[in-house]
Amino acid sequence: MIFLETRNLTKRFGGLVAVNNVDFTIEQGKINAIIGPNGAGKSTFFNLISGFHRPSSGQVIFKGQDISTLPSNKIAELGVARTFQTTNLFEQSTVLDNVIVGHRLRTKSNLADAIFRTPRLKREEAQCREKAMEVLEFVELNNVSDKLVGSLTQEEKKRTAFALALATDPEIVFLDEPAAGVNPDETDGLAELINKMVDKGITVCLIEHKMQMIMKIADKIMVLNYGEKIAEGLPEEIRNNETVIKAYLGG
Ligand code: ADP
Ligand code: MG
Repeated sequence: MIFLETRNLTKRFGGLVAVNNVDFTIEQGKINAIIGPNGAGKSTFFNLISGFHRPSSGQVIFKGQDISTLPSNKIAELGVARTFQTTNLFEQSTVLDNVIVGHRLRTKSNLADAIFRTPRLKREEAQCREKAMEVLEFVELNNVSDKLVGSLTQEEKKRTAFALALATDPEIVFLDEPAAGVNPDETDGLAELINKMVDKGITVCLIEHKMQMIMKIADKIMVLNYGEKIAEGLPEEIRNNETVIKAYLGG
């Protein structure tokens, strides 16, 4: 079975076609990359898959199920996680609390549980804490778990965002420009972490501008330009593709 695919996926904002008829297949257990100039529709493509936008037409199929019209929380429950281009973390809270809150949004406690502090709530709180510590260890932030997010380096913030996504035990994570704004050494560290996710059995799909990183870690690459898929293939195929070179040089 195909793991995740888009069929003729299209999103219009008024007269603008941000994503235009895109067919894409995501391979399980691999690093699938999406590149393209600014405004090409990459983030919108992620928003369509994760349920933050409804497609104007076309479908998103995850393990045989059409998820195109499901709300984002239902899609997350199915095992599809994502990070955002600009990290949406609570800067005034600790790293640990950020991950716990992110995780608790997906647990089953209701208002009555919260008011009466039921055993279920207490059990869930303990589980969330344990899970948060586990993922913080995985992203190698366990020694800064008590620090405020606002005091972290850009790279540590990116790792915190990864931890939030991983706390939901996803089958696939969508990473929107994970290495934006971090220095080359830190970029290598994040690339290592992405490889570690794949080793753990998680499928990765990422958007990234850093070509060196992409060419090194991606198993396959799709190129978007003005909402359209203009190329797809192995890193070495994309690197030498005339159409891609033109799109990047604006020729
Ligand atoms: P990328 O991530 O490749 O830089 P985006 O997906 O963010 O590109 O944007 C693609 C196009 O869609 C851009 O022209 C952008 O201005 C437009 N766009 C994105 N989101 C919205 C929105 N919510 N409403 C209107 N236009 C949008
Ligand atoms: Mg974007």
